[in-house]
Amino acid sequence: METVSAATKVWTRDSAIAEKRDVWTAMKRGFRGRCPRCGGGKLFRAFLKVDNHCSVCDLDFTPHRADDLPAYLVIVIVGHMLVPVILWIETEYAPPVALQLSIYLPFTLIASLLLLQPVKGAVVGMQWALRMHGFDEQNPEK
Ligand SMILES: [Zn+2]
Repeated sequence: METVSAATKVWTRDSAIAEKRDVWTAMKRGFRGRCPRCGGGKLFRAFLKVDNHCSVCDLDFTPHRADDLPAYLVIVIVGHMLVPVILWIETEYAPPVALQLSIYLPFTLIASLLLLQPVKGAVVGMQWALRMHGFDEQNPEK
């Protein structure tokens, strides 16, 4: 019986420097928690802890510097989802404050927790695609 083997891509320093990096593809892969380069390996080893390298293509993730940007972006996203709804409900129905708080606070907490990891992954993917913080000086064969 004949076996079929998949061609392995050899990453060299020249091919890594010359490779085209699409920002949106890298951000989408990071948003899904996958390696921005190959889309196969996991980006996170814990909830917000970025792994040291990709388990599939061995991309070094250590140069990323997401810092507080994912948290700021989550605040902006959740705020823009919630504030218009709160203002609309308050002006149209004016429900009791206790009822509003019992809905808005858990929603804010859950939405923030659900968005934090994907947004951080997208930020790391963007940094890799834009060759920020030493992502351009890597030797992928390390
Ligand atoms: Zn990878």
